[in-house]
Amino acid sequence: MDHTRLRDAGIKATFPRLKILDIFYRHADQHMSAADIYRNLISDRSNIGLATVYRVITQLEHAGLLKRTQLDTHTTVFELNDKGHHDHLVCTRCGQIRESSDPAMAQLVRKIARRSGFELDSYSLVLYGSCGCAREAPAAPHGEFE
Ligand SMILES: [Zn+2]
Ligand SMILES: [Zn+2]
Repeated sequence: MDHTRLRDAGIKATFPRLKILDIFYRHADQHMSAADIYRNLISDRSNIGLATVYRVITQLEHAGLLKRTQLDTHTTVFELNDKGHHDHLVCTRCGQIRESSDPAMAQLVRKIARRSGFELDSYSLVLYGSCGCAREAPAAPHGEFE
């Protein structure tokens, strides 16, 4: 576990912070909810509770180490904040999350904001649909997962 990342971010290296940040580094390509983190902690035989998980990921987000994305009203996921801006494509069938960073999209968003006289701080774009997983599993009749 790496103390320096927390120190560099200006927060104290407590055990729950180190442990939870470590999970993000071990799943660096994933977007995880608080519940996902909690499940990882359980399989690591850690006794950090869900309330602590919520508190710590918020602290890590405020320290700039994690990035939050609101996928829908019920789902918030977190990832390491080291990739720069990107948008998310969410498969509503299997839950897979893909990333896209197209400079043309960033330009368009800035143009729309400018035209509206809107001072843009940030934006978040989530595309919903199917990743193709339904096509790959022809055995499942239509509507089974709805
Ligand atoms: Zn899918
Ligand atoms: Zn992402």
